Amino acid sequence: MADIIKLLPDHVANQIAAGEVVQRPASVVKELLENAIDATATEIKLIVKEAGKTLIHVIDNGFGMSETDARLSFERHATSKIQAAEDLFNLHTKGFRGEALASIAAIAHVELQTKKEDSELGTRIKIEGSKIISQEVVTTPTGTSIAVKNLFYNIPARRNFLKSDAVELRHIIDEFQRVALAHSNIKFVLYHNGNELFNLPKSNYRQRIVNILGGKTNEKLVPIQEDTDIVKISGFVGKPEFAKKSRNEQFFFVNNRFIKSPYLHHAITAAFEGLLKDKMQPSYFIYLEVNPETIDINIHPTKTEIKFDDEHSLYAMLRATVKHSLGQFNIAPVLDFERDANLDTPYDYKNKQASTPNIQVDRSFNPFANEVKTQKSSNTAPRYQNYKKESTEGWESLYVGLESKSNAGNFSTENIEFESEAVTSSLFTNEEPRETLTYQLHRKYIVSSIKSGIVIIDQHRAHQRVLYEQLLRNITVNDAVSQQLLFPVTFSFSTSEIALLKEVKESLENIGFMFSDITEDTIELSGIPSNISESELQIIIEQMLNDFQGEIPDTGFSQTDVLVKSLAKSMAIRTGKKLETEEQEALVNNLFACKEPSVSPFQKTIFITLSVDDLDKKFI
Ligand code: ADP
Ligand code: MG
Repeated sequence: MADIIKLLPDHVANQIAAGEVVQRPASVVKELLENAIDATATEIKLIVKEAGKTLIHVIDNGFGMSETDARLSFERHATSKIQAAEDLFNLHTKGFRGEALASIAAIAHVELQTKKEDSELGTRIKIEGSKIISQEVVTTPTGTSIAVKNLFYNIPARRNFLKSDAVELRHIIDEFQRVALAHSNIKFVLYHNGNELFNLPKSNYRQRIVNILGGKTNEKLVPIQEDTDIVKISGFVGKPEFAKKSRNEQFFFVNNRFIKSPYLHHAITAAFEGLLKDKMQPSYFIYLEVNPETIDINIHPTKTEIKFDDEHSLYAMLRATVKHSLGQFNIAPVLDFERDANLDTPYDYKNKQASTPNIQVDRSFNPFANEVKTQKSSNTAPRYQNYKKESTEGWESLYVGLESKSNAGNFSTENIEFESEAVTSSLFTNEEPRETLTYQLHRKYIVSSIKSGIVIIDQHRAHQRVLYEQLLRNITVNDAVSQQLLFPVTFSFSTSEIALLKEVKESLENIGFMFSDITEDTIELSGIPSNISESELQIIIEQMLNDFQGEIPDTGFSQTDVLVKSLAKSMAIRTGKKLETEEQEALVNNLFACKEPSVSPFQKTIFITLSVDDLDKKFI
């Protein structure tokens, strides 16, 4: 077979937006995987060591390269994929710039081994910093193997700029998943430091999605399908009740290339309108097929953005298609019910009994009081009982472990410390009867009288602060109290989420989580922190993963901080939660025992004070 690589003329090369090809190990992964796909491989193996910093090795069974092509492939603007600028408008391949291998070879130690089907022998080329070190004839299977070692070895600044292994691996997994989701007909395997992270057999799209995101994903998927003259739409959207807070299950593929499109994303969000709770994100895996002539992939150097000729029609079609599928699968009515029932509950569980948010509880109800009052209360009495039970149950679990450290109900002034001068340690007046010390306003604020006037505390932020400091203390001195679960609970996660969990496992253990088993897509917990209730677990862990997604902080310190903030955020009592007097008091007490009671972990004001003077001024 004839040699196929040609050098692009300079003016064509210049027409192609250059941009930096290699920003991090994940960029190399993307380029090498795409080359393997362009070579029509049916099996692609990716082997990575130390998050790609020491090794990125891609082995494919594609059509390989001739000896001359192998040599030429490292030249800048050397490509077999396009010959003229016009070809850019009719692309059927991933690559076309002829820059990747040249760029990679300039900044790493590269070893290429390749053989074409019809050749007896193959070629091995070693190249370091663009210099060919050796070239030899070898026996090697048909296909191509490219090992990229010591990335950025000759650019220490870039090397030092790389993030922690956890972050870089996360980026690699992201790229790997995008490519694997776009090509379910190709078998992919990924090893990291000798561990198999993914083994994805050739399959259909649905199976591929499930293989990547875990077995439980299957029941979440609703297929979508539409064929029109300008676009063929297929793929899946996640049922609304499985929506997550994170955006990491949102994928668009155009002609089997992963792309980002805020505009099309909006079309999907519009289709889900009214079906999702606040801040929840729909999952979607959407495959669009369009005539390559109607798109321009070249507007973004890393080729994840794309320009469509007829964006408006595409938007409308996508929205209608998704809406139609959601309706067809009878999702809307089911959801509407759940939505109303739980609109304002802090943690929303499928199986949780619907709460009764509209009850007016008459807290001053006294069966021995006068007739009128009894009359009024008797209407609400049975529901009141119900409500009370639920509310204290949740609270108890929230405050186990805190109790020992707090003197609930006793406003001892000694442990109240303030940074501000205005509020002194004698903040709370002890003379007043205990019952009137705190009062909950709009299920949001706790109002209490202090010597100088009143203090108004945001209950959610206050509890965030209390939990934040408590959890930090637990992590640093490792004195967390665990509750052993009677039956261990198992949660399913995607492989990448598991990788993330492993990263923070030790910190979690210090807080009181006890892991009894971790597999590639599940974790089993045999113990949990004493101030978390079992029913909240799922959402707390999901929130935490969500907060960690994308940017895992580099240093151990800030990692702990992100973790603790996330937990404090999801564990803290919400606005809208009714608090009993003892609960209010315990919260106030614990807040003022904190090192920094005035701001939440997210730097928001926790309380304000109004002095009698301030009040007097208002009454002038
Ligand atoms: P591009 O993919 O944009 O053409 P690259 O620098 O990535 O540029 O690759 C240069 C050329 O090397 C490709 O056009 C292709 O002919 C050849 N090549 C690279 N990787 C492979 C592979 N895995 N199998 C066969 N040929 C390859
Ligand atoms: Mg390429």
